Amino acid sequence: MAHWRCVQQCGACCQLDPSDRPDLADYLSPEELTQYLSMVGPDGWCINYNHDQRTCNIYEERPRFCRVDAASFEAMYGIDPADLDEFAIDCCQQQIEGVYGNDSPEMERFQTAVEA
Ligand code: SF4
Ligand code: SF4
Repeated sequence: MAHWRCVQQCGACCQLDPSDRPDLADYLSPEELTQYLSMVGPDGWCINYNHDQRTCNIYEERPRFCRVDAASFEAMYGIDPADLDEFAIDCCQQQIEGVYGNDSPEMERFQTAVEA
């Protein structure tokens, strides 16, 4: 069974363009939605994303909706902790495909990591 993991040099989930995520209000609280929208830069990327390093400038303090863990996903999406891996892998694949493409090095690295 595949296990979710985040890979270095990706950052696809830090592309926050709300037009690509029409259901934000379904899983974010009103406060979180305000915070989310405040983080969207002019190019759709999070203002906290370091493009050179492909890292998060506020990693330790990043919001709940940036965290992949059982408690957050159960609260936001109603996902049973037993299904976290499958759901999170699907989320990453969709985001990586949308940002970098299905044949991108980012997708290849992700697939290799989760299937290891
Ligand atoms: S899309 Fe997934 S693998 Fe890529 S940075 Fe985000 S959590 Fe990590
Ligand atoms: S706060 Fe950090 S982890 Fe969350 S979207 Fe922005 S750069 Fe990515």
